[in-house]
Amino acid sequence: MDVTFPFDFLRCIQDHPKRDSCLGVLAPVDDAFACEDCGFRYSLVGGVPVFRPERWQVTDSWFEEMYAGRSRIDELESPYLCDERRFMAAFADQRSLTGPCLEIGCGTGLFAETVPQYIGLEYALESLFAKGFESFTRLCGDARRLPLADSSMECVFSFNTLEHVPELERTFEEMDRVLKPGGMLVLKPAWHCTRYTTELIPVLPYRELKARQKATKALLPIIQSKLYKSLTWLPWRIQRRLTRRPNNPLRWGRLTPYHGEAWISDADATSSIDCHEGILYFISRGYVCHSHPTALRQLLAGHDIVVLEKPAGNRG
Ligand SMILES: [Zn+2]
Repeated sequence: MDVTFPFDFLRCIQDHPKRDSCLGVLAPVDDAFACEDCGFRYSLVGGVPVFRPERWQVTDSWFEEMYAGRSRIDELESPYLCDERRFMAAFADQRSLTGPCLEIGCGTGLFAETVPQYIGLEYALESLFAKGFESFTRLCGDARRLPLADSSMECVFSFNTLEHVPELERTFEEMDRVLKPGGMLVLKPAWHCTRYTTELIPVLPYRELKARQKATKALLPIIQSKLYKSLTWLPWRIQRRLTRRPNNPLRWGRLTPYHGEAWISDADATSSIDCHEGILYFISRGYVCHSHPTALRQLLAGHDIVVLEKPAGNRG
């Protein structure tokens, strides 16, 4: 087998009686990777190892279809994620990152050149075959079970992805697990996705809405105002902050994603996460928040990029 990428950090994601996953070391065998502990074999499809847990396979192929036949080269020319790419390149430079750096939800790999030792993880296999992405390290897998060793990544980053991941607390645990002590975490999901968006309430005419949805539509100018958001979010955030404890559990909301023809930004979200809640999860585990260094900045966090640093030593 022609293994063009480093595989020493790869680990088995099968169920394990004592912990969340097997995490056995994987060794190349024929045209696959086999777990040295449980023997499970992970196939390589077009040079990409596939780690999607079978019981979590989504039945609809919406994301696969969306990514089919895409070109990374063409997409790099578009303004999409341009500022974010510049941010990551400057960040890697400032922090003198040497890698490996994991991107969760890499799509067609637009960030591949911004960090050293790039590893792109994506659920949709098709995206990893995008033209111009072939020479990079790509893994097809699920954010809820990262196929990587504990403390193996210097940086984990994710843009516009976590809102599509169900069981978010599992994903947060996994990001923490694979990060090295002193490692950096950069998160920018679509924070605060809403049910009224996934229900297309802003764009559907009143006649197509149920009574509850009609009321929401009528109130949208108020619901979407800064004042209303502050009045509803701020007391909740203060309460969450005052009652937090070490290793605070993550609170997030489940949404029913819309995967139809009409297009409205973030209607395809599966999860609603509050930016402050995400920060709280990590600072209650000893992380330092570089992007929002004070309690006030954290309480007022909006749709921001969040930068966190994992504690270097042992946590008590
Ligand atoms: Zn195994």
